[in-house]
Amino acid sequence: MKTISEALNLILAQADLIESETVSIHQAYNRILAEDIKADRDYPPFNRASMDGYALNISDWNEHGLRQFKVVEELHAGAVPTQKLGKGDCLKIMTGAAVPPEADAIIKVELSAHQGTTVSFEEIGDLKKWRNIALRGEDRKTGEILATKGQLCNAAIISVLAVIGKMEVKVAKLPKVSIISTGTEVLPPDKTVLPHQIRDSNSFALQNLLKKFNIGLEHKILVPDDKTLLREAILKGLQSDILILSGGVSMGDADFVPEVLNSQGVQTIFHKIQIKPGKPFWFGKKENGTVVFGLPGNPMSCQVGFRVFIEPYLNAKLGLPKPQSLYLPLMGTHQKRSKFTEYFPCKIINKNEKTFIKTHEYNGSGDIAAMIGSDGLAAHPAKSKKLNENTIIEFLPW
Ligand code: AMP
Ligand code: MG
Repeated sequence: MKTISEALNLILAQADLIESETVSIHQAYNRILAEDIKADRDYPPFNRASMDGYALNISDWNEHGLRQFKVVEELHAGAVPTQKLGKGDCLKIMTGAAVPPEADAIIKVELSAHQGTTVSFEEIGDLKKWRNIALRGEDRKTGEILATKGQLCNAAIISVLAVIGKMEVKVAKLPKVSIISTGTEVLPPDKTVLPHQIRDSNSFALQNLLKKFNIGLEHKILVPDDKTLLREAILKGLQSDILILSGGVSMGDADFVPEVLNSQGVQTIFHKIQIKPGKPFWFGKKENGTVVFGLPGNPMSCQVGFRVFIEPYLNAKLGLPKPQSLYLPLMGTHQKRSKFTEYFPCKIINKNEKTFIKTHEYNGSGDIAAMIGSDGLAAHPAKSKKLNENTIIEFLPW
């Protein structure tokens, strides 16, 4: 039986980086950059007025002591000056306008008194060069990297694509994923269930966990524990890059998933991990490259398996950095029931300007609503039976 880190390493070893594709800026949201984004020119692209006011040459002010200037022109953002500034001249300028080369300071409008074609200013001492002017290239230089491969295209990145006029961008392709739920007792949620039957919730959990990655489903299939039907479903699922199965990977007489996968050319990489919940986790790969995850059917095991093993796989496959763990003190205590590392749902609590994680109350791993209201999973390490108040533990946010 693999340890959690052995299992994770074996999984990550199969996560070769997916190819890229080009999408329009309008489709780029929540996709992962597959190219570095560089500044197409200096930013600001010109010396830019950062205040509404009067642009003048500081030698007139500092050396010649002028406090009254002739206003030769009014320059709005987006306009080009028509006059050159001579000695004692200034121009009225609006925020965002390109400052002409003769001017090297702007005095803000609040310090001025404008009458007819002249303006006078309050005494404010010597002027510093480039006062109220953002210099060309002071933010970013031409060719500078603004965003890098592996970053998620959020609003900030997409706005930068627009700034640099990049209407198309290379992003990681989305893998094709299929989900198969197994179990003779498991029915689609829109069917009437008899007392001994349950509704399929795992495929809904998995389908929506995949949405975090923008991944839709190729096939979503529900099959009873019947080898022939399971084989047909698996054959369909194997057309995808990734196949995720729920249920049928334990030691029961109707747990046919590993056997049927093997019969269809999927090699077992490992079966079972020292983890609770989720021990019967199965992982394998077909020669053509389809990677197969077999998750135990217990809803909590299924969600823990996704967060702890499938999410890091998807991050690596798509070129995202490893999912971040947080390390936070535990509020209260936690008792472990098995000899394995145990994952349990927790909430983040802020108290007296400190952040803690607190066990989210639930009735064991079969509790259908165990995860609702939790902020993530905390890990109770294998080696300690009881976690005391304030122990720092690993927390995986949803
Ligand atoms: P299994 O891993 O197939 O032994 O299933 C373990 C437990 O999870 C059983 O109680 C199943 O009824 C339940 N289960 C299996 N599949 C699903 C599913 N798709 N949705 C919700 N519960 C399930
Ligand atoms: Mg089953």
